[in-house]
Amino acid sequence: MPDFWDLHYAQRVQLMKSSAIRDLLKLTEQPEVISFAGGLPAAEIFPVEKVASATQKVLQERGVQALQYGPSEGYRPLLELIAQTSSRDGLTITPENIFIVSGSQQGLDFVGRLLVNPGDLVLVESPTYMGALQAMAPYGADYITVPSDENGLRTDALEEMLALKPKLMYVLPNFQNPSGVTLSLERRKRLVELANRYGVPVVEDDPYSQLRFEGEPLPSLLTLDSQLRKSEGEPYRGNIIQLNTFSKVLTPGLRVAWIVASPELVRKLVQTKQGADLHTASLNQLIVHELLREGFIEQHIPLIRRTYGERRNIMLQAMEEHFPAGIRWTRPQGGMFLWVVLPEGLNSTELLREAVKENVAFVPGTPFHAQGGGENTLRLSFSNATPEQIREGIARLGRVFHKALAE
Ligand code: PMP
Repeated sequence: MPDFWDLHYAQRVQLMKSSAIRDLLKLTEQPEVISFAGGLPAAEIFPVEKVASATQKVLQERGVQALQYGPSEGYRPLLELIAQTSSRDGLTITPENIFIVSGSQQGLDFVGRLLVNPGDLVLVESPTYMGALQAMAPYGADYITVPSDENGLRTDALEEMLALKPKLMYVLPNFQNPSGVTLSLERRKRLVELANRYGVPVVEDDPYSQLRFEGEPLPSLLTLDSQLRKSEGEPYRGNIIQLNTFSKVLTPGLRVAWIVASPELVRKLVQTKQGADLHTASLNQLIVHELLREGFIEQHIPLIRRTYGERRNIMLQAMEEHFPAGIRWTRPQGGMFLWVVLPEGLNSTELLREAVKENVAFVPGTPFHAQGGGENTLRLSFSNATPEQIREGIARLGRVFHKALAE
């Protein structure tokens, strides 16, 4: 017998797939499991005291404002501060270019709501962030994919996909989730140029750029686009929508993130926000503003970079030591993830079952592939486990892989 609710859902609910892998990952939440599965920041370095003192200060000095409803686009001084620090290298950002969201995940939902009609093609990398696939699927997005390699999305394969007239393109240029790879400068320029030529909106999801622990920062797609348009001095009005967040440089629990886009699009986003949740929590915005204003976030980032850089090194070293020959992996210069490719024929979802028996976990690669494939791939997160857990967890995984290859 169908459940009462099965008879009442909107059609779009059919497009919301629950993944079998999520159920499998539930098993990995036991305390004895060393999990490289979740994309969680390192909790030991959360600045709890600092957030507590900023909260107290905000409540003492601007308590009524912190507890009152606020404007849908966000707390004005926060918009101003972000605009000020974003305007450089030929890019001019005004507060009208900025929009505060309750996490960039909400930004992805809003992009879907504003731009995607049922049946529209949405161009994504393969692999890509599964949260973005989930966010836009209910609006009827049909995903098409461009492959990527160690230099990110393959722009040589891009033009033929753009010729299919996708409604928008979604890319992660820095330390991509899930692969950890970074889009090279040459490919960034090519992507921006092609997107312009084909008139396709580009969603640049960039939660990790500040978490670079190796190599030189590269200009964002937003910056390159504004240079191409020679729009310095004028508020940005191009086809890039950039998603940024305080989740990885401060804490994800505050749910404060921001979008940079053309002022016209921002005005539409304001209407969307009014229908969704009116505005992002005022108290949280004021806390973030306080920590940004006093320079704390800037001071805190090097500790995150050091911590993740060290953990990545330990993970890479342990993989060299324990993984059997024939397995390949990426070597990210920042962020929280690396990507493992097993020999053809091995299935990472099946191996997760074996891994859980050894009390270690990862995310199988298939849900990151919008058009299927990737059965022999998996994602490891190095941000959230301690060095000891990383050494032990990778040794356990090595045993699982050795065993699978011997069979
Ligand atoms: N985009 C990407 C690529 C992410 O990895 C994440 C977090 N896992 C998000 C968006 C969502 O971040 P937020 O906490 O800002 O909603």
